Amino acid sequence: MSDVFSDLVGVDDAVAVLRGTVRNPVQAYLLTGSSGSPLIDGARRLAAALVCAQAGCGRCDDCRQALAGIHADVTEFAMEGSNWRVDDIHEMETLTRRYPLGRRRVNVIPRIDLTSLVSIPALLKVLEEPPSRSTFILTTQSFPAHLATVRSRSFEIRMPALTLEAIAHALEREGISSPTARLAAENSGGDISRARLLANDKGLEARLAIWRSVPETLTPRLGSARGLSTQILAAVETVLEPKKAEHKAEWAHLEELYAQAGMKRPPGKKDFDEKAKRELRALTKTELDFGLATLARIYRESFLGHVEAEASSKAKRAMDILALIDEAHEVLATNVSADLLLTTLFARIART
Ligand SMILES: [Zn+2]
Repeated sequence: MSDVFSDLVGVDDAVAVLRGTVRNPVQAYLLTGSSGSPLIDGARRLAAALVCAQAGCGRCDDCRQALAGIHADVTEFAMEGSNWRVDDIHEMETLTRRYPLGRRRVNVIPRIDLTSLVSIPALLKVLEEPPSRSTFILTTQSFPAHLATVRSRSFEIRMPALTLEAIAHALEREGISSPTARLAAENSGGDISRARLLANDKGLEARLAIWRSVPETLTPRLGSARGLSTQILAAVETVLEPKKAEHKAEWAHLEELYAQAGMKRPPGKKDFDEKAKRELRALTKTELDFGLATLARIYRESFLGHVEAEASSKAKRAMDILALIDEAHEVLATNVSADLLLTTLFARIART
């Protein structure tokens, strides 16, 4: 059977539950799992299935628009900062109160575990008494105590994290060569959509090489830290290119479908562009996350290699640098400039 859930690989039990629920939807779904679980992918596919007249055929206009993020009855909310603030949630209210134009209105709210304590009452208000034919799809990676009420009111679907083998295997089935599939899976952090992107990313090995070269390239000389940061950000820019091309093709495809149906142009260009911009920002962050993890691995190995007493000053230096990388990693979650973050980190490493 080929439908919107067909590409959701490695989570067969969850897919069976999702397929089973679409014809008699409940008011709120809660997709749960860890950072390696296809939570947002699952949520988007469920949203498409809920607005499709054939329970997620994957071919009709409703399915295509929902998957492209431009369906009038589907809204995927995004937080401004690193968690859901009261203002973010107040903004949700107007949209979630709308009646559907078609079969059903679907509100996707990812990562409700990132709701601050003060925002919980506002979130509960949004989830309470939505208009008829509305469904919420929430995702979470953990269950802080203050989410107990939300949890008790939702239908929970567990999405297991994908193993690297499952990801590599899925890529191979999609026609990627075995070594490339493995390299992409190993560097995907368990995220299959990232693995798909990396599998078609010719610059992956070059980027890994730049990050690995940091310890030996970096000098206390003024400009060394800045030079490395520039080099890394230029390499990251090449990751964004295929994604930009994908966005362009996606929109062109929709335009073509509308033209074939004798209609002018698809609605929702602004929403589409905003979603695209968000994806590019998230991709840059993921890339830097992954780079920092690569760098940390090198210093961790250096620490382990020098942990004996006679080399303890080297071990201590590695520990200090790991703390700096950790700190940079935390700052990355805020909306800081990537260039500033990297330059500062490298300058501090060079001084350590
Ligand atoms: Zn459909």
